[in-house]
This record gives sequence, C-alpha cells and structure tokens, in this order.
Amino acid sequence: MIVKTKPKVALIALSDCEGCEFAILDKGKLFFELTERVEVVDFHLIEELPAEDSYDITFIEGPPIAKDNFTDLVKLREKSRLVVALGNCAAEGGMYKIKNYRRDVCKAEFVYPDAKGIHDPKVQPISDFVPVDFTIPGCPINADEFIRYTYELLAGRIPKIPQRPVCYECQIHGFPCLLQLGQPCLGPVILGGCEAVCPGGGMICQGCRGPLDNPDPEFKKVLENVATRQRIEELLEMYGIKEKLEGVLL
Ligand code: SF4
Ligand code: SF4
Ligand code: SF4
Repeated sequence: MIVKTKPKVALIALSDCEGCEFAILDKGKLFFELTERVEVVDFHLIEELPAEDSYDITFIEGPPIAKDNFTDLVKLREKSRLVVALGNCAAEGGMYKIKNYRRDVCKAEFVYPDAKGIHDPKVQPISDFVPVDFTIPGCPINADEFIRYTYELLAGRIPKIPQRPVCYECQIHGFPCLLQLGQPCLGPVILGGCEAVCPGGGMICQGCRGPLDNPDPEFKKVLENVATRQRIEELLEMYGIKEKLEGVLL
C-alpha cells in the first residue's frame, strides 16, 4: 500500500512582530481547512515542535536581526523546497529598516544602558541572504492572499500577483482620492492586492506592499506638488522601500 504523505509546511518568524502569522490564524476556518491539505510541522504560535529535516514550503516572516537568525535562515533555505517571504519585513526589511536610515537617532545605546555586545546589524530583506521563490507582500499580509497563494504553491505553481496599483482597488471601491485632496498617497506606484484598506479608512497608502515592477516616474511630479522631498523620503522609509524608489520618486 502506498501511503501518500502531506506536504510539510513551516511558518517561521525571525526578528519581527509576528503580526503576519496572527493575520493567518485570524482566518480561522479557512486556515484550518488548509491545514487538512498539509502537515504544519513548525509554527510556534500553534505548538513548539522540534525542527524537521526537510520542508516543502517554508514561510519566513521578518528580517534576520538576532545573531541566530542568520544561520537559521541559511539552514531553512537548505532544507526547504520553496521559501516564501511572508510580509513586508521579510520582503523589504520592513519598518525595522528605519535604523539603517536614521543611524543618528536609532542607536542601541538609547534603549540599553550598556549596549556593549548588543548585536545591531544593518537590516536587510531575506533575499539578500538566500534565494526566495515567492513573496507575499504587506504589513501585515492580506491573509486571503496567503490562503489563495498557498493553494497555488501546493499545486506546483509560483503565483503571479497582478501588477496593478493600489489605486485600482481604491477606485473599484469608490473611495475618495486622497491625492486629489492634496495628501501624498503613494497608491499609484504601489502593488495592489490589499483592497486599498488604508485609503478606505481615510489614510494615505504608505507603500507596505512594495512598489510595482515598473513604477511610473511621472508620478514624481504629482507627488512633489503635495509633499516636500523630506516628507517623501520619510514616507518611503516607513516600510523600507526607499532604495527601490530612489531615482523614481527621489
Ligand atoms: S510585515 Fe508587519 S505585521 Fe508582518 S511581521 Fe513585519 S511588522 Fe509585523
Ligand atoms: S487615494 Fe491613493 S490609492 Fe486611492 S486612488 Fe487616490 S492616489 Fe490612488
Ligand atoms: S493601502 Fe498601501 S499601506 Fe495600506 S495596506 Fe495597501 S499597500 Fe499597504
């Protein structure tokens, strides 16, 4: 008799707030339906389990910051068939990257009386250290996308997120355009898929899903009409996407 084993899936947090993992748990029934198709072998929010020798899909949340994270990341890559960056922190370095940009004010000494020996590396996306097969963007992720894309990965396909800006969903939902009201919304150059949740709540898009593959450089002129260079720079630092939009918006 051939016993068919389920694909092994791990969800691992490096240094981060674990909000993306909570967003997944928040899907409740949909997540537990998914777990019937796979074997969740490492997901410490559910249960602390000993590490296994190999994984089919490993979702990695957060950038490596703590010392052990760097070796853990390499080991995870070695034993995973697919590695997926889960959320903005893993994909871009996230809001932790603010300490790269603001070294003058983000110093370990400001928090710890004796900062000697505290590991304080530059914050970088996981793709700077290991090859990444797919990225689920956002801070936090859209957990509906997580469910949908995981089924696609299980079916042997690397999903393609449609290259549409946040404005696309914003206009479908009929939300008032904050850019037209004079606010520096980044929606035109940011990858959609979040249902434009921020503009829908009256807040500008600050780019947590990262830029489109080919952001329109003409948007710079529009943005400069409603924000100073310093403000634009601060916006791009929020979710660690400044480097990617340098030369486009700055
Ligand atoms: S992407 Fe956002 S929600 Fe997810 S782990 Fe990072 S900070 Fe937390
Ligand atoms: S509010 Fe922002 S995301 Fe929405 S249409 Fe205007 S620029 Fe685009
Ligand atoms: S509107 Fe922008 S900042 Fe808000 S969730 Fe979507 S991509 Fe992220």
